[in-house]
Amino acid sequence: RVKDAGRNGYQFYDESMQKEAKARWEIEAGLHRAVALNQLQIWLQPQVNSQHKITGAEVLLRWQHPQKGLVPPMEFISVAEESGQINALEEWVLTATIELLNTWQKQGLPSSFKRLSINISPAHFMQADFVERMLQILKKRHPGAVQIEFEITESLLIHNFINASKTMNTLQEHGISFAIDDFGTGYSSLRYLTQLPLDILKIDRSFIQQMEHSESDAAIVDVIMTTANKLGLAVIAEGVETHAQEQLLAERDCQLYQGFYFSKPQFHEQFYQLLIGQDGHIEPPSSS
Ligand code: C2E
Ligand code: MG
Ligand code: MG
Ligand code: MG
Repeated sequence: RVKDAGRNGYQFYDESMQKEAKARWEIEAGLHRAVALNQLQIWLQPQVNSQHKITGAEVLLRWQHPQKGLVPPMEFISVAEESGQINALEEWVLTATIELLNTWQKQGLPSSFKRLSINISPAHFMQADFVERMLQILKKRHPGAVQIEFEITESLLIHNFINASKTMNTLQEHGISFAIDDFGTGYSSLRYLTQLPLDILKIDRSFIQQMEHSESDAAIVDVIMTTANKLGLAVIAEGVETHAQEQLLAERDCQLYQGFYFSKPQFHEQFYQLLIGQDGHIEPPSSS
């Protein structure tokens, strides 16, 4: 089928390219139906304080595919960004999150639970009507004590600082707070941090996971914590998997933690059970 079959390198390249293109096309076509067919799901991962109380949670999108099973976001977010479907997906995420929050508020929430954060793709964030559409959805929110936070990435700020900061300021006036996700892996200038309505830096899990073995990674964590502290920002350590990692972070006065050690992401029903189970308290495996 390949014209110049003698040139094996090219033939291989063509076939793998075709497979890749087909896989992406299948995802794109499937995503078109995913919202209508009710295949998207809200999963949540707790964020805890140093007393292991759940103070917040991150919303993580999952796609329950009829053949592929539970598809993680890494396999469809970039496709959705390229196809433009990300707008509809994240509008669904915010809508579904607000519905959940309204229901939970009626059913009861521990007073320690203060924040729900949602990931926003740079491609979506930079749409001309992003603010307008988000505000439209946010109107459905019942009044309550839980803060809705948007997680954005450093790359968004580098490439579109002026527009991004305008968008952030407008949304902040309407009650949204902001965190920088995967902090330390991008190239944001320290000055950005002082010029934006930010509340939280989420230290990327690559640093947390290397802290034990790499002095330079531990040093980067120190610098981020000190900087955040001086600028009045809170820090969340992402990807905490072990008691040893928690201890290294606690020695540095880390206040907020997220990671498999405390809990993996859970389907929203299980998350709510966990949240109300012990009035928001989590018992990690070996912390007694
Ligand atoms: P993220 O925003 O950095 O989310 C944290 C990811 O790290 C989640 O993966 C979570 O399951 C994983 N994680 C948490 N604790 C640990 C740990 O202790 N060890 C390890 N190895 N991993 C841990 P997940 O759910 O697969 O999501 C991956 C990425 O997909 C997210 O990274 C986020 O960038 C993106 N994503 C998820 N939902 C959305 C969404 O609604 N919109 C957009 N734009 N992106 C989303
Ligand atoms: Mg995130
Ligand atoms: Mg992250
Ligand atoms: Mg991320």
